[in-house]
Amino acid sequence: MTYEYHLSFAKKQDQHDPLAAWREQFHFPQHQGKNMLYFTGNSLGLQPKSTKDSVLQELEDWAKYGVEGHFEARRPWYSYHEMFAAPSARIVGAKESEVVVMNQLTVNLHLLMISFYKPTGKRKKILFETKPFPSDHYTFESQAKLHGFEPGEVLVEMQPRAGEVTLRTEDIISKINELGDELALVCFGAVNYFTGQFFNIKEITAAAHAVGAKAGFDLAHAAGNVPMNLHDDGADFACWCSYKYLNSGPGAVAGAFVHERHHADKNLLRLAGWWGHNKSTRFQMQPGFDPIESAEAWQLSNAPVLSMAAHMASLEIFDKVGMKALREKAIQLTGYLEFVVQQVAAQTNVALHILTPSDPSQRGCQLSIVVPGASKQLVRDLAAHGVIVDWREPNVIRLAPVPLYNSFEDVFLFGEVLTTLLEGR
Ligand SMILES: *Cc1c(COP(=O)(O)O)cnc(C)c1O
Repeated sequence: MTYEYHLSFAKKQDQHDPLAAWREQFHFPQHQGKNMLYFTGNSLGLQPKSTKDSVLQELEDWAKYGVEGHFEARRPWYSYHEMFAAPSARIVGAKESEVVVMNQLTVNLHLLMISFYKPTGKRKKILFETKPFPSDHYTFESQAKLHGFEPGEVLVEMQPRAGEVTLRTEDIISKINELGDELALVCFGAVNYFTGQFFNIKEITAAAHAVGAKAGFDLAHAAGNVPMNLHDDGADFACWCSYKYLNSGPGAVAGAFVHERHHADKNLLRLAGWWGHNKSTRFQMQPGFDPIESAEAWQLSNAPVLSMAAHMASLEIFDKVGMKALREKAIQLTGYLEFVVQQVAAQTNVALHILTPSDPSQRGCQLSIVVPGASKQLVRDLAAHGVIVDWREPNVIRLAPVPLYNSFEDVFLFGEVLTTLLEGR
């Protein structure tokens, strides 16, 4: 597509956009009576208009049935989590038995590391990407301590080449090979929250397995953003939250993936709870944990139905649209943002610099943009013009035009506001 920096061009793209109507299905925060230009779907996705009814349904059924709702509710709570297997599997590219919706993201990362970070002898290192999300770093540190190590002994943060911010796949693979039999686990954010780089799950997994290590991925910025094939790519485990691209509301229930090759392994160490126990004998209430032969074995507790009701409303939308159509639009829309940023840089003479890879296969929706000389005031000024972006020190704004509800016009108008602010400095 040849982009043009004109409102008429943006409007024409929106007219031809097969997903354009979905925008109407979301609530936008308002600014002076108009929808805000909302670019933080990578932080908290917008609320689908269908969410309220989905949550209300559970409140009504709880009022009507009390405890009987476990079986009598329109969507029975006893098996509530099972409804998520198929739609979640389609989002991350897994078999239904390999995914489960439970807890929250950092909790799931801990639970999965209990099973898949098993240091033995000199094989004890954990390799992760440069600048991981802090919660992941805290998880790695505390998991190291759980095994009696000083974090510095076992944590290896993959560094980019001098003068670069993102990582090259070939360098990641060399690092894995270099660590060799000292490497216990490779755990990457599949899309890094800071740079927006989308890593090559397949190659990283293959390299980890080749040296005898496990490979896990945090999909917080990948789920609902980029297409994945966790099963075929062979990842051992993955986890994700559902409030970013998956639009399920603040702190909503998270997801987890465990490759089927691990399901029958009854000796795998897990922190066990009754909801992971064999369903046919669960209510005999006997000691002796008998794990379900699926990702459900990692569940501890019964389903948080109110949070899940919001997640279900969102997954219904993803199922109607499909990751393929979302990805096609995302590539165009983020490409347009990249083009608009270049136009703004040329017009204002401000050397805006995009940290995110320019190769669409190495990124999702998000662009991380260095604004030389900017302070956090820029984000406040953008907000005063009805534009919501996210700020990272020292001078980076992160924007994610998301294909479900952002338009080409949104991206164009962002360019106009940014130009006004940069020219007014
Ligand atoms: C957003 C995010 C988190 C947040 O963790 P919660 O447990 O959901 O609060 C963790 N890790 C990554 C990579 C994230 O992007």
